[in-house]
Amino acid sequence: MHITDVITPTHEKVIRIDGLDGGLTGFIALHSTTRGPAAGGLRMRPYAGPANALNDVLRLSRGMTFKNAAADLPLGGGKAVIVGDPASQKTPALLEQFGSVIDSLNGQYWTAEDMGMSPVDMAVLARKTRYVAGLADGEFASGDPSPITAKGIFNAVRTTAKHRFGSADLKGKTVSVQGLGNVGMHLCGLLRRAGAQLIVTDLNPDAVAEAEDQFAARAVPLDDIYGVKADIFAPCAIGAILNDKTIPQLQVAAVAGGANNQLATEADADALHARGILYAPDYVANGGGIINVATEILQIKDGPAWRDSKLEALKATMEAILTRAVATNRSPHRVADEIVAPKISPRAA
Ligand code: NAD
Repeated sequence: MHITDVITPTHEKVIRIDGLDGGLTGFIALHSTTRGPAAGGLRMRPYAGPANALNDVLRLSRGMTFKNAAADLPLGGGKAVIVGDPASQKTPALLEQFGSVIDSLNGQYWTAEDMGMSPVDMAVLARKTRYVAGLADGEFASGDPSPITAKGIFNAVRTTAKHRFGSADLKGKTVSVQGLGNVGMHLCGLLRRAGAQLIVTDLNPDAVAEAEDQFAARAVPLDDIYGVKADIFAPCAIGAILNDKTIPQLQVAAVAGGANNQLATEADADALHARGILYAPDYVANGGGIINVATEILQIKDGPAWRDSKLEALKATMEAILTRAVATNRSPHRVADEIVAPKISPRAA
């Protein structure tokens, strides 16, 4: 195993790890530790190559800085990636090696699960380092964050409805949901209980059938989700789905969902705004997950109460962002960055 520094002007520290088990390469990026240790998950994906992985880890770690600051957590932003197929190349030896590398950063970086990782994998990392959260067992274990992520998104949908329709009441409102995984399915349950009608899609037919059965959802083919007529669109699958192809198709008054990096480019925030579609910034809407993980990192004794108060504060932050955006006729994405950046200074750019 061989570790080298990657020099970037935008991040505090980035390392490249070559020669991991199976000959794999990985990166750990610390964008900012101004607010505290950098926190953000470990992702394993069959990236086209190390350059793509590096690009992803730089972008995602910066996103974590903003997400953690928006949630007012004493945490900076970081992320880790491994180039490889989690289905065939994720071995205990690989995870233990990666755990040792995380440990060598002496707590400057805390990891948790992200795409391609599970709580079981976190337990393997934890054999080599204590700087790992999202564990299923232990005194401060926070487990699966997705129900809390969904709760935060639900709050964001309600806040967005309030600004768009004059009331946060979702009774009779139609919400289109892309992605019925851990987050999307929980969100559907909350929306349904609040009286919303659901239109859903997913690659997985079993998940679609479950949503139809449990929540009386109407299913549509994958690409039709962009053009369906609904009040609010909740993207809960993959990133970059708000782009120059999809934004012209949207027939909704607002977008509020949980997927990370929903905007393909910054300009897409303005394209949504130009169409009169109110966009709830993703890194504020989906901050519930890292709030949940933070109870473990920070070893919060009364975790549920602390978590609930942080979720309420996040709701207030979304309220402030949308209020300022509507009052100044600007995209909420731009306003969110403006509100959050001072909390991160001097590395906000
Ligand atoms: P997941 O893997 O459990 O679910 C994703 C779902 O999206 C799967 O059911 C998958 O089949 C579906 N999907 C993938 N591509 C699709 C497409 N093109 N069209 C429709 N469906 C598609 O993931 P998750 O944990 O539910 O996370 C969903 C999103 O929320 C991700 O972007 C994730 O980064 C983000 N997020 C998750 C959490 C969390 O607590 N899990 C926290 C913050 C952000």
